[in-house]
Amino acid sequence: MIPSVFLDKQQLISQELKFDIYYNRISELNLNDILEMAWDRGIKEAKKIKDKNIRQLIFQENILVETDEKSYNPDYAIFSDYNSGEKKITLYKKNIQNIFVPSIPDNYIFWRDYEKVVDLFLTHEYFHHLETKYIGLTSEIKKIQIKIGPFVLKRKLRALSEIAAHAFVKEFYDIW
Ligand SMILES: [Zn+2]
Repeated sequence: MIPSVFLDKQQLISQELKFDIYYNRISELNLNDILEMAWDRGIKEAKKIKDKNIRQLIFQENILVETDEKSYNPDYAIFSDYNSGEKKITLYKKNIQNIFVPSIPDNYIFWRDYEKVVDLFLTHEYFHHLETKYIGLTSEIKKIQIKIGPFVLKRKLRALSEIAAHAFVKEFYDIW
């Protein structure tokens, strides 16, 4: 599977929606508008700071960065995460090296390097930091409708935050 950040907008959005637990139940109602809102949010936030260095930004925000050298799980490949309570980004080095780096497409060969892709993960998680500390979670701005049998319910779509974070990274590094 191609990492979302190297897909184009439409492919990226559909891949992220498929990862979401509500994928099969999402109502089409207003979905496109909501997806556009998430995408634009990522782009807009990146434009404000893309002239800066991500490691500098993380340092200024006092975010801890930890590298997990041990965990390796090809079945559930998590590459990084952000813990807002601890203000900590964790990088899962083995998953990044063994799963993420080899799946970078040929036309983005520049990124096929551990130290370089680490910046992509730091930037992605920095967006989640912005969400929790400054701008609010993208997935909480608009709820989506899901259908369960005869019922229509409103739910947070976690994929919205991911779509916004990927758009943020793409704009930050001009990965087009
Ligand atoms: Zn994320």
